[in-house]
Amino acid sequence: MIRYNYHTHTCFSDGKNTPEEMVQEAIALGFRSIGISDHAYTEFCSDWSVSRERIGEYLSTLQELKQKYGGQIAVYAGWEQDALAGPVPEGLDYVIGSVHWLYKNGDYVALDESRKTIKNAIQTHYAGDADRLAEDYFALVSSYAEDPAVSVIGHFDLITKFDETAPALFHPTPRYTAAWEKAAKRLVDAGKIFEINTGAISRGKRLTPYPSGEILKRLGEMGAKGIVSSDCHSKDALACAFDRAEVLARKYKIELVDLF
Ligand SMILES: [Zn+2]
Ligand SMILES: [Zn+2]
Repeated sequence: MIRYNYHTHTCFSDGKNTPEEMVQEAIALGFRSIGISDHAYTEFCSDWSVSRERIGEYLSTLQELKQKYGGQIAVYAGWEQDALAGPVPEGLDYVIGSVHWLYKNGDYVALDESRKTIKNAIQTHYAGDADRLAEDYFALVSSYAEDPAVSVIGHFDLITKFDETAPALFHPTPRYTAAWEKAAKRLVDAGKIFEINTGAISRGKRLTPYPSGEILKRLGEMGAKGIVSSDCHSKDALACAFDRAEVLARKYKIELVDLF
């Protein structure tokens, strides 16, 4: 049974609960450890990230919770970095490397906002060629191989978020497959840990975690290490579908590891 979660959001970014409420819920669930990983501040989007002014408060709040609940659970200060965000702040215990944005032709394209946004971007910036967007996306994800601060790769195939509940925008074409395989290889070689991320399940967007079974199978063959997380935005989803994620890890022979 998984007794940790290092990908959680709070009201410091776009989550509903306070960090303390998340810690209390983790204790109630019998977790051994909890990491808070709010969204990195970015200059171009203030809607759902930690504001620049509150980064210090975010870090000090997590330090206080470490002390306060130290006898009951291990609390870690995390950060969900975006590849287009600035440098990560000092004083973190770990960083998740995610890509939520592409920058193309002067536009910031949000990848997990809506199917329509991605579809428009494919038309406007990639001449209708979804594989080209996927190539840009996976190349950016793979750049975390060179970032020593990042230990975990967040929701590796996020661009498929809307592909289970509506006609798929991405298909396993040779180019699509080559794009993720190349990125996966580079990241596995760099020792990065891949999330089996159940976040879209609790939000009703998917029935299966990221990444897809096809990718998990290949990651298992490559000897990738995995970590289960729920990428939750409220305490109710702290352990959402963890059992399903564990079954997939076993099925695809991905060794689950703890971060600490
Ligand atoms: Zn994310
Ligand atoms: Zn997240």
